[in-house]
Amino acid sequence: MTEPSLVRGAETPPLLEITIGAALDEAVERFGNELALVSAHQGARLSWRELAGRAEAFAAGLIELGLRPGDRVGIWAPNCAEWVITQFAAAKAGFILVTINPAYRRHELEYTLKKVGVRALVAAESFKSSNYAGMVEALAPEARSAAPGQLRAAALPELRALIKIGAGARPGWLEFGEVERAPGDAALAQVRAAGSRLSPGEPINIQFTSGTTGSPKGATLSHRNILNNGYFVGRAIGLKRGDRLCAPVPLYHCFGMVMANLACLVHGAAVVFPAAAFDAVATLRAVEDERCAALYGVPTMFIAILDALEKRAWDVSSLRTGIMAGAPCPIEVMKAVIEKLGMDEVTIAYGMTETSPVSFQTGPDDPIERRVSTVGRVQPHLEVKIVGADGAIVPRGAPGELCTRGYAVMLGYWEDPERTADVIDAEGWMHTGDLGTLDAEGYGNIVGRIKDMVIRGGENLFPREIEEFLFTHPGIAEAQVVGLPDPRYGEELCAWIRLKAGETLSENELRAWCAERIARHKIPRHLRFVDAFPMTVTGKVQKFLIREQMIAELGLTLAKTA
Ligand code: AMP
Repeated sequence: MTEPSLVRGAETPPLLEITIGAALDEAVERFGNELALVSAHQGARLSWRELAGRAEAFAAGLIELGLRPGDRVGIWAPNCAEWVITQFAAAKAGFILVTINPAYRRHELEYTLKKVGVRALVAAESFKSSNYAGMVEALAPEARSAAPGQLRAAALPELRALIKIGAGARPGWLEFGEVERAPGDAALAQVRAAGSRLSPGEPINIQFTSGTTGSPKGATLSHRNILNNGYFVGRAIGLKRGDRLCAPVPLYHCFGMVMANLACLVHGAAVVFPAAAFDAVATLRAVEDERCAALYGVPTMFIAILDALEKRAWDVSSLRTGIMAGAPCPIEVMKAVIEKLGMDEVTIAYGMTETSPVSFQTGPDDPIERRVSTVGRVQPHLEVKIVGADGAIVPRGAPGELCTRGYAVMLGYWEDPERTADVIDAEGWMHTGDLGTLDAEGYGNIVGRIKDMVIRGGENLFPREIEEFLFTHPGIAEAQVVGLPDPRYGEELCAWIRLKAGETLSENELRAWCAERIARHKIPRHLRFVDAFPMTVTGKVQKFLIREQMIAELGLTLAKTA
């Protein structure tokens, strides 16, 4: 009889049943004078004791501004030390940290601030083409004449305090340094009292899911959700006390603030931010300068890092481990990470914001073939099943929707019971929308998103499989496959391809190469050679934009939905 696609993770070690604030106190006790954080572009270095002290002082400053436990504190900035100080300040006093995507513009900012009623917003003044302070002032022009901390804005009725990272006065804004400076004893006592009343199941973080479509949803996560995920993710990569972990991934996403920051907190490692936003050369420089043992990235970041490594030799001999995650991880890229970056113990992780985020991860002990071609096995204290369209569990090997249950499942979308009920069922299963398979030994594979699956003449095609295949061509650096409407077959495949520098390849040559190797119906009908793909900041390709552009270019009609 075929086994059902249902797996349960280990039950040991036990879950951590403490708050993030208590974990920070423990870190200070155990390794307070050791390095906690390096922000290379700011020249900032903090020990755990310094970080905890600044977090407590900043929390006290927020209390003095009138904030109370449970209030929402927004953070809108690229990676920097103040981001982490704000994260731990919120955790200490029980403010709910709302992480706002630095790529957002005015419309998304307004939606986010209003949706969760942000009371204090900590923001960078500007970065690259984003004038953060200017966008806030465009929404709340009252700020320019308001006393700092006493804003009353018609469009954002709950917002009171604007706090700016970086020096220089700006009307209506407090400087970060002013808020953390010389906290009063009474406020400090209030922070400690609030911290001691918190419990691990309470919400402490709202993250707006990046998604590639639809309006953002505020995934609400508890201390238990994210502290434990950081713990188990760090354990899976063998993160040790004294290690340095290079995190070029954005902090507003779980990859940065949970998998990097909280993993370092519980394992006694230090997090290293190479730059405000991803930069391949800065990443290699930080690895070399700080002798980092671990490196994180989404696949496109590793591709760029490997490219940069070909142009100049960097000393990456300190690297041992790390994580590639966030999007399908091409086998060839994983192999190159092991060979060229020397990350022998690198792992693949799979998850989503709504599951804090990681639910599957490979381990250094898994056979090499599994380590580069699967997302590993289910993480401790979690259950995963794969279900068919009828909701029944499918046999091992068959694709279906991956569902997750256990401590990591979010509390829900903030004040949105309807959309929460759409994804978490009555039995607590989070329906991920990802198509996955489980093999006989419990290794998972993500074969696509439910909505990405292409049905060509009744045949289910998985873009992921075709992307992996195209990747095996020595001249191809990146490939993205989408479905396009087609009058004859319902849908047809379309591939966008980026060649490696200096390579040339014609459409006919590529077609001939494919024809020798894969079934005809899997050879994309439409092929385009491009220099870049539309991306979100978390490194996900926005396939819907590829689709839209091709539909417009080819003059196709949306036969499938008509
Ligand atoms: P986010 O909530 O922004 O973290 O996005 C989560 C989504 O990223 C998942 O639902 C998957 O579609 C995708 N994803 C994350 N990790 C992987 C992985 N290792 N392989 C394939 N897809 C992944």
